[in-house]
Amino acid sequence: MLPIAAPPIRDGWVDVADGRVSAVGSDRGAANDFRDLGHVAILPGLVNAHTHLELSHLDAQIPPGNDFVAWIRAVVATRRNNSDPRAAHIVDAVQSGIAQAVRCGTAVVGDISNTLVPFDWLARSPLAGVVFYELIRFNAPEPAGFVDQARRQLSALIETDRIRASLAAHAPYSVAPMVFRAIRQAVDQKANVPYSVHLSESADEVEFIGTGGGQWRSFLEGVGAWDPNWRAPGGSPVQYLEECGFLGPQLLAVHGVQMTSADLARLAAHGATLVTCPRSNVRTGAGVPPVTQFYRSGVRVAVGTDSLASTPDLNVFAELAELRRLAPDVPASKLLDSATRQGARALGFEADYGTIEPRKRARLLAVSVPDRVDDVEEYLVSGIQPDQIQWLDSGAF
Ligand SMILES: [Zn+2]
Repeated sequence: MLPIAAPPIRDGWVDVADGRVSAVGSDRGAANDFRDLGHVAILPGLVNAHTHLELSHLDAQIPPGNDFVAWIRAVVATRRNNSDPRAAHIVDAVQSGIAQAVRCGTAVVGDISNTLVPFDWLARSPLAGVVFYELIRFNAPEPAGFVDQARRQLSALIETDRIRASLAAHAPYSVAPMVFRAIRQAVDQKANVPYSVHLSESADEVEFIGTGGGQWRSFLEGVGAWDPNWRAPGGSPVQYLEECGFLGPQLLAVHGVQMTSADLARLAAHGATLVTCPRSNVRTGAGVPPVTQFYRSGVRVAVGTDSLASTPDLNVFAELAELRRLAPDVPASKLLDSATRQGARALGFEADYGTIEPRKRARLLAVSVPDRVDDVEEYLVSGIQPDQIQWLDSGAF
């Protein structure tokens, strides 16, 4: 058993009452009222800290490439052809994305949405999580009013004890500095509300923030979103968001492919969480994330799959296998911690998810492990498939 909050327990047991963990231990002794699960690893349900369920219909629609801006152009064009977010094929894809995430062992998601369509489907699903209403507005004459309107839309949603809503900014090249400030002010009005941004994903973003030029400038001009009063801040995207007052302990900064050690140290100093989505980064042409550096920097690291537009599936175990491939020197226990406890903490669900401890929800996985395996943690980051995964609470969430 992998409690995550403590080292692995060989032949461990867990007691559950009313859907919550009541006790955890080793050596059941002479007790005979337990169920032997066989050769399995028990661990908390995983946390996919960054995905976009509403893009599930783009599954395999956008070919991989090595030019990130071209990849985004392809996504924008394809979404334009699917302009009704409540169209049946889009809603069906959201539902099958949710079902797939559950089959792959996910308990909690950080879901980015421009339409809020996934909110109700998530509320009816076994998943817990945060739906981040993502704002995109580079030329924003009324930044406070723009963010206020988004807040009003959020307040019309009915949150549950498992599904909450918050705000996200899309990225430094697509959101005005005053919109970043207004989002931070809005989320700070309630305690412990997470918020998110795609940050330092591509070299084009670094160039744009540093010089004001490059492909993002032409993109913004091309779509009529350029702000002639905007001046390049210089420095890195992380420095820029620090100047905008956007960095803080509730921030999920997603990707970080282009972050330097100084950027990572800055994020760590603010207590922010870096969410890495390595398979997506390779597929979109953003580049290979410096995973070893992430862990060396001391920043909190969580894991996301990103959307089905940029990844072949929503399996966080597959993301862990990619992290292992990119960073053979990072202990498996750290990678597993990222995919459970760190994600739950970042999304504000640490009281209920992320570890196996008394009083937490018993949303636990049993992963079948071959007899020959000795190092279970290493095995769990080697690429677990859905057919190896069983939910122990069998639907009682
Ligand atoms: Zn994303």
